[in-house]
Amino acid sequence: LMIRRPPRSTPKPSSAASDVYKRQTGPCGLSFLRSLHQAQSKGENIPEVVAFEKQESWGGLWNYTWRTGSDQYGDPIHNSMYRYLWSNGPKECLEFADYSFDEHFKKPIPSFPPRAVLQDYILGRAENSDVKKYVKFNTTVTSVADNGNGFDITYRNKKDDQTKTESFDKLVVATGHFSVPYIPEYEGMNSFPGRIMHSHDFRDAEEFRDKNVVVLGSSYSAEDVALQCHKYGAKTVTIGYRNNPMGFNWPEGMKEVHYMDKIDGNKAVFKDGTVQEMDALILCTGYLHHFPFLPEDLKLKTHNRLYPPNLYKGVVWQNNQNLFYLGMQDQFHTFNMFDAQAWYVRDIIMDKITLPSADELAKDIDNWVKKEEALEDAYQMIDFQTDYCVDLCSAVDYPKIDFELIRKHFYDWEHHKEENILTYRDKSFSSPVTGTTGPSHHTTWLDAMDDSMATYLDTK
Ligand code: NAP
Repeated sequence: LMIRRPPRSTPKPSSAASDVYKRQTGPCGLSFLRSLHQAQSKGENIPEVVAFEKQESWGGLWNYTWRTGSDQYGDPIHNSMYRYLWSNGPKECLEFADYSFDEHFKKPIPSFPPRAVLQDYILGRAENSDVKKYVKFNTTVTSVADNGNGFDITYRNKKDDQTKTESFDKLVVATGHFSVPYIPEYEGMNSFPGRIMHSHDFRDAEEFRDKNVVVLGSSYSAEDVALQCHKYGAKTVTIGYRNNPMGFNWPEGMKEVHYMDKIDGNKAVFKDGTVQEMDALILCTGYLHHFPFLPEDLKLKTHNRLYPPNLYKGVVWQNNQNLFYLGMQDQFHTFNMFDAQAWYVRDIIMDKITLPSADELAKDIDNWVKKEEALEDAYQMIDFQTDYCVDLCSAVDYPKIDFELIRKHFYDWEHHKEENILTYRDKSFSSPVTGTTGPSHHTTWLDAMDDSMATYLDTK
């Protein structure tokens, strides 16, 4: 539904600051729509909003599609989701303060749910918020122009191939940043006889049963894709790290070696002298922040880090405060951090939060960036991002959630992973919203081959 801006001469209700245009309805976009719904249900006048969603459905990366490459309209596939993905962090750490897992599932569920369960949870809150009316599905924004007062947005309806331009006062970019793959090049790739893919295109580990797989990277995708391949029967899995090894106690059949130098025929040659026969090379080499629809001066340019520069409070574009970004940082915290960000942006747009002077704003950004650059390990990073969430929440009416408990959970989770990378998903955590402790799952993660919601929730 496209809601047109009232004519300029029409006085707006005092708290309806402006019209907002928002891109995408993944978790961040849905957080923003939820924040508006919450304000409205408290009797406040919310701004007019249109959410442009290029996919057929909402949920962002939590949708699964078999497709890779292009969609049926020729657009690049947004999705980086694969079958058998289970949460890699405790669900309690990402719980919504205003919509608990207990409320959604009507019973306690274990702490590391598979994709479909998390998707159901995210969409459950969205459905309950009556916000679908704001979303234009199958609609891609092709360009944004700063008109001095706001933005002229050009968008294309993919189904009927119609293009339109409309003006809005504010722009919230919630397009995610784990969608456009960073794909490095290695000598020997062109003549490698096997399969080369990026984790963005990884769909089903079954494909690699009895195969020798090489995985490049040392972050969450490398860890999880490598473990998936092992779990579903790959013959060997060799992980090539670039800077720091993950250093887990890998099970038999898996190893971690230093950096791939080149490919020689069907062999991966590593810098530490390891030579490994391979049938498939999976590049878990991360993603690019990619905003082709934005002009250069509005584009966030950053690698995947906890505090990207030029964003006040991690969300307000320093040089044009009508522009906001959600969820653009590297993430320990996810859904409830997106909520805190959304509530914060909402309150700026609704004139409930006043931005400081340009100098103070720059100082605040600088302060966070310097702190981030001094972080030395995962525990300090958890502290940093927890403090950031607490800081945002202190300024808004996001319902109470126990961030100290979440901080502790993340610490325990890190320890569990160090103890045993195959069993950390079998642990239970308590909810920072309801206090409920997740029950043990009926099957350990390593043995659970069926990731359907029905099987997962069948706790008898
Ligand atoms: P990422 O965290 O940005 O990590 C990118 C990795 O690529 C880094 O380890 C980097 O290594 C490595 N890299 C880049 N170029 C390389 C090269 N030429 N050779 C070797 N390594 C190279 O991206 P990600 O791992 O794809 O994770 C993205 C997000 O997806 C995370 O938020 C994660 O939690 C999420 N995820 C979730 C699940 C799950 O829930 N089960 C599974 C997978 C991913 P350096 O450190 O050396 O730069």
